[in-house]
Parts: sequence; C-alpha cells; structure tokens
Amino acid sequence: MQYVCPHCEGIFEVAEEAAEQEVTCPHCGQLLMVSRSEESVTETVRQEELDSARIQQVSRLRTAAMRTRSYCLIACGTCAVAAVDLIWRAARRMVTDGVGRVPAFYLLAAAFLAWFAWRMWSRAKSIALELRRTLAADPVDSPDFSDLSDGSQVAENLEHLR
Ligand SMILES: [Zn+2]
Repeated sequence: MQYVCPHCEGIFEVAEEAAEQEVTCPHCGQLLMVSRSEESVTETVRQEELDSARIQQVSRLRTAAMRTRSYCLIACGTCAVAAVDLIWRAARRMVTDGVGRVPAFYLLAAAFLAWFAWRMWSRAKSIALELRRTLAADPVDSPDFSDLSDGSQVAENLEHLR
C-alpha cells in the first residue's frame, strides 16, 4: 500500500504486512510507525473530499440565504405599497361617504399588510446580518505552519518521476 511520510510528505510503498510496524522513510530516514488507519493516501484523499463537500454545502447555503433575502425584500416592498394604497383608498372613501364598514375593512387589511411587510423586513435584515457574520469571522489564532515541510521532498518526488 502507499504511505505518506508525515515528516517529509514523501510517498513510498509499504508491504501490507508492514502495517502496525516501524519502518524507516526512504526519503528522510525518519523512523515511523506505519498504521493502516492514519496518514495513508486513501485517508488523505477522503479528508479532501469531505472538505470540498463542506465548502460546496456552505456556498449553497449562502446562495439560498441570499435568494431568500431578496424574496423577503420583494414581499416587503409589495406589501408596503399595497398597504399605502389601501390607506389612500380608505381616506378617499371616508372623505366622500364618511366612516363606514368599507374604509374600516381597508384599514384593517392595510394594518395586516404593514405587519407582514415589517416581518419580511426584519427577516431580510437578520439574514443579511448572518451572512456578514460568517463572512467576517476573523481567525483568532495565527495559523500553525510547524508541521509543514519546506517542499524539498516534493521537488525530490518530481525528480524521481523523470
Ligand atoms: Zn520522510
């Protein structure tokens, strides 16, 4: 099976029966414990697949949140315009016919539309806040580069390929 040296990232073949045994890395000479479960090539690839799936999921969620936010804003604007229109109708009706059942109904509907518009507006605002919060999440600690190699092994691997 293929094995990646954790010290120099050099790739080398290890016999299946060598698992759970100590071997010497042919690239850097470090003595290492080969285990089937960790640091094998398949494990690394699986981790990378998980990472990219997570990134895709996060970006899908962000797109969905932005779409929901625009729908909320459109609904908010439509309801606000309709509420203003109903209040205007009620006012005109009251000028001509006086206070009656029709203007009262108009004002009730306008109040409901205004409430709904306000709900949509606060929903859009909280989505915007959430999106900004995930964008501006600053790292707390400086990244740890101590276990990275200087890349010389990668160059050496390329040498071997030729
Ligand atoms: Zn090594």
